[in-house]
Amino acid sequence: MAKKANCSFCGRAKNEVGILLSGIDGHICDTCLQQGYEVVKDEMGAAAKVHKPGNQQFELVKPKDLKAYLDEYVIGQEEAKRHLSVAVYNHYKRLMQTPAADDVKIEKSNILMVGETGTGKTYLARTLAQKLQVPFCIADATVITEAGYVGEDVETILTRLLQSANYDVEKAECGIVFIDEIDKIARKSDNPSITRDVSGEGVQQALLKLLEGSIVNVPPQGGRKHPDQKMIAVNTENILFICGGAFDGIDRHIAKRLNSRPIGFSGDDTFHESFEKNHIMKYVSAQDLKSFGLIPELLGRLPVVTFLNPLDEKALLSILTEPKNALIKQYEKLFDMENVSLTFSKDALVYIVEQAMQYKLGARGLRSIMEAIMTDAMFEIPSQTDLKDFKVDLAYAKSKFERTVFHQMKVVA
Ligand code: ADP
Repeated sequence: MAKKANCSFCGRAKNEVGILLSGIDGHICDTCLQQGYEVVKDEMGAAAKVHKPGNQQFELVKPKDLKAYLDEYVIGQEEAKRHLSVAVYNHYKRLMQTPAADDVKIEKSNILMVGETGTGKTYLARTLAQKLQVPFCIADATVITEAGYVGEDVETILTRLLQSANYDVEKAECGIVFIDEIDKIARKSDNPSITRDVSGEGVQQALLKLLEGSIVNVPPQGGRKHPDQKMIAVNTENILFICGGAFDGIDRHIAKRLNSRPIGFSGDDTFHESFEKNHIMKYVSAQDLKSFGLIPELLGRLPVVTFLNPLDEKALLSILTEPKNALIKQYEKLFDMENVSLTFSKDALVYIVEQAMQYKLGARGLRSIMEAIMTDAMFEIPSQTDLKDFKVDLAYAKSKFERTVFHQMKVVA
């Protein structure tokens, strides 16, 4: 006679429970299964909480692979890519590190990128974060002031990181923060005591505590408008900080240090000047940044210094067409969604690049120029059902661009 089936955990018979599952040598009812699930969930949750941030889910990508990924999106900037890839790899290796018997503690490798506006500083940092799948935020150093003055407190930088991590503190604690315009908080004069420098050295001092790794109380909503909001404690020890700035005029400091002819004083040979300027940046060091006005303590916490080259016409042309999400590819996609095949003639592309060079906005100008040229077409084409191909040639690009406010601004200037 077949044995009557009971739950092997609570002993209840089949007719007393909703579902009774059978295994090789026993049974389990739906209630016990549910309880078992709750226990497992709680245990796993607790285990996850005691894990150090190093156990957060992120991909450890080797420097070569990281650079190869950056190459798909960012044109040129070889030096910066290599520095970033190594620094980021070491940073995340540091997070994986188990307490070593030999007490070798790997220090943080926060990064400082020097390069003109629109050369890809933010873009590099953003692309990195995308690959590593860690929370990422951009903060502007110019809006931060010393505590107590009009402006934002330095802690609000971390508010943004928390927001991008959906308030998952552990996740945020392994994120990447990009602080832009760090050069704008340079010390205004060599003697800090003459006037209060609330947006300069004061902010640098305030940044120190974020960069070096400490527990910071972060207002979850940011700002000072919500005085009774409950602060969230965030440990910045494993947050990677990447700072960027144009450091206009730093070439003079480099030249001075290298004991070469100061740039711009010659007045005889402009080609020579610009050649020197483009090449001298690669010698940038902490010493030059110090003479520019960053305090040594801050520089000490930004051990990796790298530079970005100004973009020339060739680089801009590549940026327009080559990266995975190149502007041209984006417009082609937009038109493709209307079943229209979009093409650009080579001379139209060269024309766009020439305009971008004139505005000195780096790659950032490309987008606005493209938009100026393409808006009319994007307005008309969705209503033209019979159109299959659309070609932008030099004459079209020129005629559209010359009619824009953008172009007229240049004429006035
Ligand atoms: P920065 O932070 O140096 O002022 P961004 O990184 O914001 O400049 O660059 C502006 C835009 O220009 C980016 O979003 C990107 O689309 C494009 N861009 C800039 N530099 C490059 C580059 N080297 N390769 C590809 N795209 C670039």
